[in-house]
Amino acid sequence: MSCVLCGQNNLKKISTKDAKRGDFLNVSICSSCGMVQQNPIPTKEELQVYYSTEYRQDYKKTYTPRPKYVFRAGNIALDRIGFLHKGDVTQGRLLDIGAGGGEFTYLSNEMGFDSKGVEPNIGYSNYARDEYGINIQTGQLDDVVGSYQVITMFHVLEHLPNPAETFKILSELLEKDGCLFIEVPNIESKDASPNNIFFKAHINYFSEATLIAAASSYFDVITSDNSGNLRVLFKKRNREVLLKLPTKTQVQHTHERLRRKGWLEYLLLGGGVTKIFFRVKVIVQDLFRPKQKSLVILQALINK
Ligand SMILES: [Zn+2]
Repeated sequence: MSCVLCGQNNLKKISTKDAKRGDFLNVSICSSCGMVQQNPIPTKEELQVYYSTEYRQDYKKTYTPRPKYVFRAGNIALDRIGFLHKGDVTQGRLLDIGAGGGEFTYLSNEMGFDSKGVEPNIGYSNYARDEYGINIQTGQLDDVVGSYQVITMFHVLEHLPNPAETFKILSELLEKDGCLFIEVPNIESKDASPNNIFFKAHINYFSEATLIAAASSYFDVITSDNSGNLRVLFKKRNREVLLKLPTKTQVQHTHERLRRKGWLEYLLLGGGVTKIFFRVKVIVQDLFRPKQKSLVILQALINK
């Protein structure tokens, strides 16, 4: 198989196990460009079969999140709006791809954007429309029409087979000078438990260098943050250019990071120990959380 990013035949196996179910899963790194990917990349047909059997809840028509979930998702949404503000993106026609329960779409719409969402899960998208009265289309990236000034896509790109092709589609949905905010798990992160990295649902695994490279034909970088999940704010290029692949130093860095990933690093540097205490604190807080409507919970976060 050739690399999904650079097309070279230089893939080296780094994992053979799905973290969720223990099934065989070949994840490889490309020695030429550092892109980590499933090998082979599943075809669109295989993905359709996988999602229709594995993600059965997609076909459930009702969904009611717990207050603690809405509270957490709302705080994450506010943090993401803060990242847009840092890049000087504070308004405009916004499309959120993979809108989930609609927390980000609702909050960004309340805070200066003209927001719309698209979400494949029928239960989630029905819920978001009914609860928040926002514009959510039930569907996928392929179903989206229109043109936008801002597109956001959180934890979606790693599920898609061809990142460069996805960036092309996103660029076509954006107006001139439009902005794109992508968030994905960071393969170089110290925060992920070593047993919890490679999943069948995740086809591609990005570092900051490979994410920026995959977008480089169509997008320039405005700002990025790799302190937790990988966040990059892009600006649409005026014209398409050749893909700019990661440098040798960046490729070596990814190899080095993957070699060091292990329990010792996770527990000492990645916050493995503090995470356990944090989790206990959150569980206690959740015990005392009043049962409020999701709309009331999100509105209270804005007014805080
Ligand atoms: Zn490659």
